[in-house]
Amino acid sequence: MPRHTKATINLNAILANYQLANKVTPNSKNIAVIKADAYGHGSIKVAQALEPFVPAFAVAIFEEAVVLRGAGISKPILVLQGINEPSELDFATNENIWTMVESEEQAKLITQSPLTIPLNVWLKLDTGMNRLGLDNTHLEPVINLLTNCHWVNDQIVLSSHLACASDLTDTMTKNQVRTFAELTENINLSTSIANSAALLGFPETRMDWNRPGIMLYGLSPFDESNQQDKLLRPAMTFSSTVISIRDVKKDEHVGYGNFWTADKPSTIATIAVGYADGYPRHAANGTPLLIAGQKAHLAGRVSMDMITADISQCSDIKIGDTVELWGETINANDVARCAETIGYDLLTGVSQRVPRYYK
Ligand SMILES: *Cc1c(COP(=O)(O)O)cnc(C)c1O
Repeated sequence: MPRHTKATINLNAILANYQLANKVTPNSKNIAVIKADAYGHGSIKVAQALEPFVPAFAVAIFEEAVVLRGAGISKPILVLQGINEPSELDFATNENIWTMVESEEQAKLITQSPLTIPLNVWLKLDTGMNRLGLDNTHLEPVINLLTNCHWVNDQIVLSSHLACASDLTDTMTKNQVRTFAELTENINLSTSIANSAALLGFPETRMDWNRPGIMLYGLSPFDESNQQDKLLRPAMTFSSTVISIRDVKKDEHVGYGNFWTADKPSTIATIAVGYADGYPRHAANGTPLLIAGQKAHLAGRVSMDMITADISQCSDIKIGDTVELWGETINANDVARCAETIGYDLLTGVSQRVPRYYK
């Protein structure tokens, strides 16, 4: 029997989620963030579907932009971590790739490499995340450096990234927005600060440009869900099939390390997916699954190529039945909580072994 483990990607859902971002922020331009292979959904397919509708795309690293250009994607692509090799700058200008500048070093790399076509630059300001970005001592010198450079387009965008926007009650976001306003007070340039959570949950962060990522794929960006995210449509259905069914007696165990013990006579289904496919190894007993449309629960350690589920509460489960690991019914964020991680980690972790199908 063929192995039916797969990820089915609903491109219409991604488009609808993108359009929701536009609806919420009618005065902004929304850049579709498709880094990490579009959060595991396939960056080329996602870019092709969104290209007619978006002003630009964003990826994390230069190589991701090269892949998209190789596939014929032509809208501007912002590289969020910027360019660190002089040899990449010519490609960037020829191919309309925009680059983030987060440090004086990155700015100097540009100003010391003469270019024939103007380069589009975004600046990253550190407003409290303390990971990347310019602080108040470096901002002005870097702006002067870049605005005096003939091959830097003067339409520079000022940006920052938020540390705690996934928590609607956290005061950090307000503090970061205030710091950003102070840093940019006397500078007349466009601005960008919102990721998905900020875009949906903090109206004051909606600026000239927003950078939604996770919401495009239909997962809530919030630690606790709220009203707005109910409108999101999960785009990925990660599914597999039942390959074996057996009865176990009370006090018998299942899987590696005897991680699950039957507290009564039970029925166990073995499913053809494991951590080598990207199902999280740390998923606890009780993690939800949907087998032939019925709720069931993980029972036993996740193996490399298999998982086991308690289907005692289900009826008429057969070998070959479809299992939704996450998708429209089983929310990936709920699975992630059972594995002490976040939905982003699960989506980006679906491995190359898993074929993607598009609808
Ligand atoms: C990944 C990323 C985003 C998108 O974040 P989501 O939480 O997925 O919406 C936005 N901006 C930057 C700088 C990022 O690295």
